[in-house]
Amino acid sequence: MKCVEKANLKQYNTYKINTMARFMYEPENVEELKDLLKSLRDKNIKYYILGGGSNVILPDENFDGAIIKLALKDLEIKDDIAFVGAGYNLNSFIKKTIDEGYTNLASLYGIPGTVGGAIRGNAGANGSEIFDDLVSVLVLQDNDVKLINAHNIKHSYRHTSFKENNDIIFGGVFKLEKGDTKKAWEIINENLEKRKNSQPLEYPSAGSVFKNPEGLSAGKLIDECGLKGYKVGGAQISKKHANFIINLDNATSSDIISLIEIVKEKVKKEKGIDLELEQEIVKW
Ligand SMILES: Cc1cc2nc3c(=O)[nH]c(=O)nc-3n(C[C@H](O)[C@H](O)[C@H](O)COP(=O)(O)OP(=O)(O)OC[C@H]3O[C@@H](n4cnc5c(N)ncnc54)[C@H](O)[C@@H]3O)c2cc1C
Repeated sequence: MKCVEKANLKQYNTYKINTMARFMYEPENVEELKDLLKSLRDKNIKYYILGGGSNVILPDENFDGAIIKLALKDLEIKDDIAFVGAGYNLNSFIKKTIDEGYTNLASLYGIPGTVGGAIRGNAGANGSEIFDDLVSVLVLQDNDVKLINAHNIKHSYRHTSFKENNDIIFGGVFKLEKGDTKKAWEIINENLEKRKNSQPLEYPSAGSVFKNPEGLSAGKLIDECGLKGYKVGGAQISKKHANFIINLDNATSSDIISLIEIVKEKVKKEKGIDLELEQEIVKW
C-alpha cells in the first residue's frame, strides 16, 4: 500500500488549501484498509478519509494524523448492474457505463470527486441524485464488512445517514439502464457547457457553498445581499456565481470560513434565512 510521510495536501483538495498531514495511506482493498485501521488504532493515530477533496474545507493547521485516500478502484459491469469501488472517479465511472451502452447515470456527469464521496453526500445535478440508481452500499462498520440496501439508508437533498456515522464506504452497487448513448453525450456536453458558463471553474473552489433553501436559490439570495466579489484575504465570493467561494490568491481555510460567516450573517439579517452549509469544514 502506498504511504507518504509529511504529505502535502494542496493537490488533494479542490480549494487548494496548503496544508500537510503526517501520513497519507492509499489502501487498495478492504483487507489493506482493515489492517491499516487496526494499526492506526493500536498506535493511537487519528485518521481522516479523503475522497477527491472536492467538498471539503481542510484546516490550515497541519494534521498530526493519517489521511486515508481509498484507492479502491474495482469496477464490474454485468447484467444491468455495476459494482464500483469507492475510490473510483465518479465521471470516469459514468463514462465506463455509457461505453457499455447504459445512460441512466449521464445527468450526474460533471460532478467532481469519487464514487464514495458522492454516495456519502448524495451528490446530485440536473434534477437527479446518486441515490436514484443506487441499489446497495458496501461499508466497513466497526471493522465489519456490511452490504446495506440503499432503501435502508436515510437520504435527502445532499444528505445521508453516512454524514452522521463513522461508516467507511468502500463500494456501491448501481442499477443500469440501456439508452441512446449518442443522445446522452449530447446532453452531457450541454450540461458541461452550462456549468462552464455559470460556474467559476477557472478558479479553485469546492462547488456550491450552501444548500439551496427549499424553493429558493442560495446564489440569488447572496447576490441580492450585494456580496458578489466580496473578499477576505485570498478568498472571494465569485462574481460569476454568488454561491461559490473561490481561492483567488493563496486563500487560507480561515479566509474561506470568515467569508462563510459573513454571508450567513448578512443573509440572515437581510432575508431572515439561515443558510445551511453544503461543504464540510473539516476539524482534524
Ligand atoms: C467545481 C465543482 C462543482 C461541483 N458540482 C457539484 C454538483 O453539481 N453536485 C454535487 O452534489 N456536488 C458538486 N460538487 C461538490 C463535490 O464534487 C461533491 O460533493 C462530491 O460528491 C464530493 O466527492 P469527493 O470524493 O470529492 O469527497 P470529499 O470532498 O473528499 O469528501 C467529502 C466527505 O465525504 C467523506 N468521504 C469521502 N469518501 C468517503 C468514503 N469512501 N467513505 C466515507 N466517507 C467518505 C469525507 O471524509 C468527507 O467528509 C462540486 C464541486 C466542485 C469543485
